[in-house]
Amino acid sequence: MKKRVIVIGGGIAGMQTALRLAEQGVEPVLIEKEPELGGKLRGWHVLFPSFTPAQEVLTELRRRVNDSGIECRMSAEVCSVSPREVVLSGGERLACDAVVLASGFTLFDASIKEEYGYGIYDNVVTSADLERMFNEGRVAKADGSAPRRIAFLHCVGSRDEKVCQQHCSKVCCVTGVKQAIEMKRLFPESDVFNFYMDIRMFGPGYEEMYREAQQTYNIHFVRGRISEASPTLEGRVQIKAEDTLTGRPLRMSVDMLVLLIGMRANDDNEQLARGAGLERARSGFMKPRDLFLGNVCSNIGGIFYAGTISAPKNIGESLNEATAAADAAARYVMQ
Ligand code: SF4
Repeated sequence: MKKRVIVIGGGIAGMQTALRLAEQGVEPVLIEKEPELGGKLRGWHVLFPSFTPAQEVLTELRRRVNDSGIECRMSAEVCSVSPREVVLSGGERLACDAVVLASGFTLFDASIKEEYGYGIYDNVVTSADLERMFNEGRVAKADGSAPRRIAFLHCVGSRDEKVCQQHCSKVCCVTGVKQAIEMKRLFPESDVFNFYMDIRMFGPGYEEMYREAQQTYNIHFVRGRISEASPTLEGRVQIKAEDTLTGRPLRMSVDMLVLLIGMRANDDNEQLARGAGLERARSGFMKPRDLFLGNVCSNIGGIFYAGTISAPKNIGESLNEATAAADAAARYVMQ
């Protein structure tokens, strides 16, 4: 009898975990709450820093899952987990030998930051909206015209005690630089500004892309936080900020304000954690057993973590961690 490991979450981390488990001779069962695999990456356009289409990565992972004959349970909500059993919301009980949680993250709801007017004013969009617009080939102001001045605001819903999100979401700085370049490629005559607290370019090729944004695309980076946005009579968005390098207040009208929303922990982490006795970090993300020697292991034997369920990560990190989580789970069930 093959050992069976249930992988919860059919995004990139879940798919990679299942593939690696199958390679190790373990039977994976992939559970996804949406009707299709892919997770958040389904809504993404191109990936930093290579501008690789997200669809390329997704299509390949889905093809591999399909070719491996991995059992996928779609549109299935998980109600509770333990190392030997997963219960679905309809009451179905699935027996297993271990579980890998790969259910990812939730994007911050920008409307909570009322001062930016998301969902109220035209032409205030989020980074996720912009990815959708890129994918649909329909990047424009609400009236259909081309934006001539665009502002990106970093750290929306991250590093912000007021909304109980103290952590850095790690990938929104590089997303802001990538999207700013995409806007300049689409609208070469436009002026693009990025308002940031710190620029965090931690990955390979990220710093180079940041330099390219400034030197090749003439994108302006302003150290400061936008305190407020309001609509103008001409349908633009007026922003108030402070340039914290010069100490000067700043007022500017833009055609589009893009809010770089952060990653926050899934609300259902709490229920999963409570039911299984799992520990969570203060941020709400799951807490690995040991940050150095057990970062894909939970505090409960037989339950493992892959991807952004335990912290914000980029695509490459999520995939690598999924491989590590699958290996740890395979070792556990084979012992
Ligand atoms: S990655 Fe950048 S934009 Fe995102 S939370 Fe961290 S500092 Fe802010």
